[in-house]
Amino acid sequence: MAKRIQFARTGGPEVLELVDTTPAEPAPGEVRVRNQAVGLNFIDIYFRTGLYPAPSLPSGLGTEGAGVVEAVGEGVTHLKAGDRVAYAQGPLGAYAEQHVLPAEKVVVLPESIDVETAAASMLKGLTVQYLLRQTAPLQGGETILWHAAAGGVGSIACQWAKALGVKLIGTVSSPEKAALAEKNGAWATIDYTKEDVVERVRELTGGAMCDVVYDSVGKDTWETSLDCLKPRSLMVSFGNASGPVDGVNIGILNQKGSLFVTRPSLNGYADTRERLEWMAGELFEMLESGKVKVDIAQRYPLADAGKAQEALQGRQTTGSTILLP
Ligand code: NDP
Repeated sequence: MAKRIQFARTGGPEVLELVDTTPAEPAPGEVRVRNQAVGLNFIDIYFRTGLYPAPSLPSGLGTEGAGVVEAVGEGVTHLKAGDRVAYAQGPLGAYAEQHVLPAEKVVVLPESIDVETAAASMLKGLTVQYLLRQTAPLQGGETILWHAAAGGVGSIACQWAKALGVKLIGTVSSPEKAALAEKNGAWATIDYTKEDVVERVRELTGGAMCDVVYDSVGKDTWETSLDCLKPRSLMVSFGNASGPVDGVNIGILNQKGSLFVTRPSLNGYADTRERLEWMAGELFEMLESGKVKVDIAQRYPLADAGKAQEALQGRQTTGSTILLP
């Protein structure tokens, strides 16, 4: 038997329950991983609340983890039992001692990267890779605005942007989070609970405003974000921490300066094995070079997944959070 977290109905953290399951044998093309660490992500909360529908209920939860391959299905050639691996995509169910998923979503870890670091950075780091290197191919010298700069994705983004020579202005909700983002390489921070974000961006950029805005907060910040952009520049809306952006009149892009907008996802960028390997390779290089250091600021036992999600949703966390099976 193996333990996993599942939910039979959508709702608050209380719907998450720890249950015993019989681990499945991997089907052709699949692999079974014994998780040693599991990544906690805001997207898990969207599935738990029903904002993103789970394919069926009861459902497992989570898509990020790292550990050791236990068994491989027919036709799997790039992995074998005993390999140290990590993953950030595939079916819900990473909050578990064992997880079965398509082998093409699983990458072998370099020796130098430990499983906790991998579980804390695969989904968040691949996200930063595509946001900074693909969605907007930054050259260095640009100024960008990044919301939730002290969070999991944000902490990696501050360091990666600095390494690219990009000036990242990060928004945060406290002086402690501001200090953390600056330590991670943010060029400047704005405490949105005390300061007017648009006015501060204007001051910091000498009136020029930003080349790209990365907004994972969604509903609460959509319009402020558009106001922080240069004419004809790019708004990247990639999350819904405060609720989804809906009911938008597309004419607003004209009014705010002939802007561009995109709503990307990791699955849309890491959509082939080749692309996943390239993106993971860049992330591993950043980790191995020390240009990106992953801050695992919270660790919870798997059984406390609900408490961990409560903390993430309640803005009490910084950096990455992992669950330990
Ligand atoms: P974080 O660790 O960044 O936690 C979320 C942070 O958002 C909070 O700490 C808080 O920071 C800020 N926030 C602002 N408003 C709210 C609100 N109303 N409720 C809760 N938090 C709020 O989480 P992750 O690193 O896991 O994810 C960051 C974002 O990136 C999420 O929105 C997630 O959905 C998105 N994402 C998108 C992906 C994609 O491919 N599209 C992939 C991965 C993540 P503060 O206190 O400073 O305001």
